[in-house]
Amino acid sequence: MINGFSSNTELVQYLIKDGYIKSQAVARAFLEVDRADFVWPGSEKLAYVDEPLALGDTGQTISAPSMIAIMLEALELKRYEHVLEIGTGSGYSAALISRIINPGSVVTVELNYKLYLFARKNLERYNNIIPVLGDGSKGFPPYSKEELYDKAVIMAAAQKIPDELLAQVMKDGFVLAPVGGRGYQNLVKKWKNGKEENYGGCIFVPLRSL
Ligand code: SAH
Repeated sequence: MINGFSSNTELVQYLIKDGYIKSQAVARAFLEVDRADFVWPGSEKLAYVDEPLALGDTGQTISAPSMIAIMLEALELKRYEHVLEIGTGSGYSAALISRIINPGSVVTVELNYKLYLFARKNLERYNNIIPVLGDGSKGFPPYSKEELYDKAVIMAAAQKIPDELLAQVMKDGFVLAPVGGRGYQNLVKKWKNGKEENYGGCIFVPLRSL
């Protein structure tokens, strides 16, 4: 199988060699978080393949490691940051984010109940991740102005970056999201001040809303 490796370390070495992982911080997180702990039971053999994998019968997928690496690099995460993630899925990307921003925190929102339970179990030992069950298509409002997120990321394809979500990040914060229709999107970083940056093409499952 193409790009199928036999260990997490080999997978990470490939992500570095092919230029998906660029920074020390992202490399360290990928080495620390074993993808095999986040794939659906029965898919363990495919854990180190650089492909999205089905999460049981939910119709959702754990993203390809290279895609998550691109997103993590674009997020430019720093220690102590407070990050909002929409689309927990397996919890893999939330775990990776949490390692970089530690002792900061990650709030991660999932709409699918089965996946929320699956991720909550996978994330049990991460004490700086708050899994939330709900519709994150308009974000997850922080409890107060002082608790606005440093940055937010949508792990599903959005038609546009929701204004409600932009309102939930700090003044110099941004939202990173795949923007576009079904089948193909552009990874877009939109700052609260309106500035936008394009990180190229990607393919994600659609962001749903209730
Ligand atoms: N990054 C994840 C994969 C995300 S797949 C991982 O590493 O496993 C996208 C996820 O977004 C799916 O689990 C889907 O159920 C969820 N999703 C879709 N619409 C949503 C919404 N409105 N609110 C919260 N989660 C949503």
